[in-house]
Amino acid sequence: MIFKNIVCSICGMACEDLIVDIDNGNITVENGCLMGNAKLQELISENRIKEPYIYGRPARWDDAIKKSAEILKNATRPLIFIGSETSTEAMHVAIEIAIHLGGIIDDCATICHGPTVMGSQDAGKPSCTLGEIKNRADLVICWGSNPTESHPRNLSTFTLFPKGYFTKKGKNDRKLVVVDPRKTKTADIADLYIKIKPGYDYVVFNALKAVLLGEDIDKSIEEMTNVSKDEILTLAEMMKSANFGVILAGLGVASSPKKNNNVRAVEQLVKELNRFTKFSILANRGHANVAGFNQICTWMTGFPYGVDFSRGYSYYNPGETTTVDLLRREEVDAIMVIGSALASHLPRKAVEYMARQPIITIDISNCPMTMISDVVIPGVMDGAECEGTFYRMDDIPLRARKFIDPPFNYTVSNEDTLKQILEEIKK
Ligand code: SF4
Repeated sequence: MIFKNIVCSICGMACEDLIVDIDNGNITVENGCLMGNAKLQELISENRIKEPYIYGRPARWDDAIKKSAEILKNATRPLIFIGSETSTEAMHVAIEIAIHLGGIIDDCATICHGPTVMGSQDAGKPSCTLGEIKNRADLVICWGSNPTESHPRNLSTFTLFPKGYFTKKGKNDRKLVVVDPRKTKTADIADLYIKIKPGYDYVVFNALKAVLLGEDIDKSIEEMTNVSKDEILTLAEMMKSANFGVILAGLGVASSPKKNNNVRAVEQLVKELNRFTKFSILANRGHANVAGFNQICTWMTGFPYGVDFSRGYSYYNPGETTTVDLLRREEVDAIMVIGSALASHLPRKAVEYMARQPIITIDISNCPMTMISDVVIPGVMDGAECEGTFYRMDDIPLRARKFIDPPFNYTVSNEDTLKQILEEIKK
C-alpha cells in the first residue's frame, strides 16, 4: 500500500513529501534521504522493542506503568528528558508530569541549540520561513553549518537549488557562502568559502558589524581569526548588496566558545543588515521537533528547556537546571527518558552517575539507554504509528499522519503511554 505526503520525523527539515510503500512486510521510501529512510526501516526492524521490561525481564504492561509511576513518585528530584523525534502532544504530557512531580523537564536543545535559543531571547530573532528563503533569498550563508550532511534535503528543497518566485533560475540566482573551520561538502559547492579559526565567530560577527557601521578594521584580525580584512570587506559587501540574504546558523555558532554570545552577536549583525536590505537568520535545528519542544515548553512554563519545578513555580537557569549540570552535580535521583539515546550524548561522568539511578526509558528500539534502564517501555513511532504535530526548524508546525499500526496494542501513542503514567502517579 502506498502512502503519500508523509512527514519525516528525523531532522529539522521535517520533509512532508515522503512516499512510503508498505508491501509484504517491506518498506520502500521515495523522496526521503538516507537518514529518513533508515528511520522508517526501524518500523520493521528486529531491534524493535515490542514488550515492556522491568530489571531486564519481560513484564506486563500494567506492571511497567505502575513501576514507572512508583519510581517517579518516590524520587525527590526526578528528571524527565524527552527526545525531539516525538510529537508535540507527547511533549505536552511529559511537561505535565514534571510539573505534577515538582521535577525537571529538559530536552535535546540542552545539548545542541540551547545557546541559540538563549541568544534569541537576548537579541530577538530576525527570522523567516524556509519558503521565504526558497522564493526570495539570493544570498545564503552557511555559518558553522553543513546542511549537505546534517540536513540532506535542505539545499535541494528550499535554500539553494530550487526555483522560487523571485529566484526563477534556482542556484543560478543565488550565491552560497560557507564560513567554517572545516572544508565541508557544503563548502565544496560554495561561491565563497571562508576558513575561520575555531572559536573566533564572535570576533568576525563584530568585525562585520563594525564595517556596516562605517568603521575601519585592522589587518591584524587575520592573525587572530584566520579571516583576512579583504574577506570581511568582501562578505560585508555581498551582504549589503543582496536583495534577500539569510544566515543558516549551525552548531558551529551555538557550540563554539562564547556560545549564546555568538548567537546574540550574529542576530545583532542581522538586525544591522536590515538597515541596508532584507536579511534573516535561521538555526539549522538538528531533530525534527526540537523547535517544537522549545515552543510548547515556553507556552506551558514560560521557558524553552531545562525548567525546574521544585520550587512550586517554573525556574530556568541553563548551567544549573540543565541535564548535564544536574547529573554532574549528582542531584537527580530518578530519570525518565522518552525517545532519546541520551547515554550516547552525555559526558562520561554524567552517564556514570545516571546509570546508578533508577531509570525509565520509553523507546522504539534498543539503545544504550535501554541497557541501563530499570524499566523499558515500548515506544510508538510518532508521525508513523500515530498522528502528531512536529515543528520544522523554521518553527512552522506540521501535522504528521498515521499510516501504520504499532506492533502492540497496549498503547496508541507515546502521548497515551505518558498519560497512563501520569494517571498512575496521580492515584
Ligand atoms: S532531510 Fe531530514 S526530514 Fe528530510 S528526509 Fe532527510 S532526514 Fe527526513
